[in-house]
Amino acid sequence: MYTNVKEFLQKELASIKEAGLFKDERVITSPQDAEIKLSTGQQVLNFCANNYLGLSNNPELIKAAREALDTHGYGMSSVRFICGTTDVHKKLEQKIAEFFGTEDTILYAACFDANGGVFEPLFDEQDAIISDSLNHASIIDGVRLCKAQRFRYENANMEDLEAKLIEAKDARFKIIVTDGVFSMDGNVAPINKIVELGNKYNAMVMIDECHSAGVVGKTGRGVTEHFNIMGQVEIITGTLGKAFGGAIGGFTTGKKEIIDILRQRSRPYLFSNSIPPMVVAAGIKMVEMMSTTTTLQDKLHSNTDYFMGKMKELGFDLKPTASAICALMLYDAKLSQDFARKLLDEGIYVIGFYYPVVPKEQARIRIQLSAAHNVEHLDKAITAFEKVGKELGVI
Ligand SMILES: *Cc1c(COP(=O)(O)O)cnc(C)c1O
Repeated sequence: MYTNVKEFLQKELASIKEAGLFKDERVITSPQDAEIKLSTGQQVLNFCANNYLGLSNNPELIKAAREALDTHGYGMSSVRFICGTTDVHKKLEQKIAEFFGTEDTILYAACFDANGGVFEPLFDEQDAIISDSLNHASIIDGVRLCKAQRFRYENANMEDLEAKLIEAKDARFKIIVTDGVFSMDGNVAPINKIVELGNKYNAMVMIDECHSAGVVGKTGRGVTEHFNIMGQVEIITGTLGKAFGGAIGGFTTGKKEIIDILRQRSRPYLFSNSIPPMVVAAGIKMVEMMSTTTTLQDKLHSNTDYFMGKMKELGFDLKPTASAICALMLYDAKLSQDFARKLLDEGIYVIGFYYPVVPKEQARIRIQLSAAHNVEHLDKAITAFEKVGKELGVI
């Protein structure tokens, strides 16, 4: 039975390798943090985690998770609507809504599920979804799962968005969907203009805040805070797997009736397990920490400014960023891989990206800053970038 499939898959795998696109996984043997240990024994500084606020190994979150293990046990063995809802699940949903200035929140096992389950219950053939061309894979998949008409506009291009809104004008309901921060460039979606266009053409707005929540905005409340329009978008999705602790879990927060209908009809919510209470309890602690001080957000912002400033002084070509993502442009796939490999030899862990992850001729190294980094970490990285940059003739 399997022989033909096996041969086929072996050929596929070989062709992925030949194209240089095979994804190898480095094995980490320490907790996720600014400094990590690899299975090779090498100790490296980590600049490629989504650990923006440095909470992945935060003692207070670990303590909250441990306490919840004692009070609420290990797993829920149920979906939410059967017997998978505890008091801590309800509390976290309320806390997330307070944090974003929204009406209600629904938790999912991941933001991939939040995005996968948000469109189909709300939209059908009569409706239109107008989506940024660089939106996350989970949004693309979520849109595929529903029957609404689809429109795609060029990344953050407001003229193109307006043209698509005009094309979609006869639809019953319309929604514009965008990532808050785009993960490969670090640019922020122009949400103020998107909301204006939404108002003009009677379209709702949905933002995926995965890379922006905790990062963008003075207090880390994301792009709606950045543009001073909190509470003005209908739907926000986000993850507990990046800045917000880094464990697992996603959410959709927004208008009450939307959240109510998702609880009734959203398939990844109805047919997939509850997130474990320990993760939920740590999530509550995380929101409380973020709501009482901005120490971590401030540290992240100053780290990003410091790193960007020094790297520009060295003459590197960096995309402008409004997040904790810095794209060092190299424009050559092989160069991006050589650069990343040499940096690893210097103890700096970053990833080089090239087509098809980024457009052709747009190869780069993506550097992700964290509040867990201190100035010594940043200086060590900058020194390594300078050394390798000179070696490879980039600067
Ligand atoms: C990471 C990410 C997701 C997926 O989040 P998970 O909780 O890891 O499933 C969705 N959207 C965007 C924009 C992301 O960056």
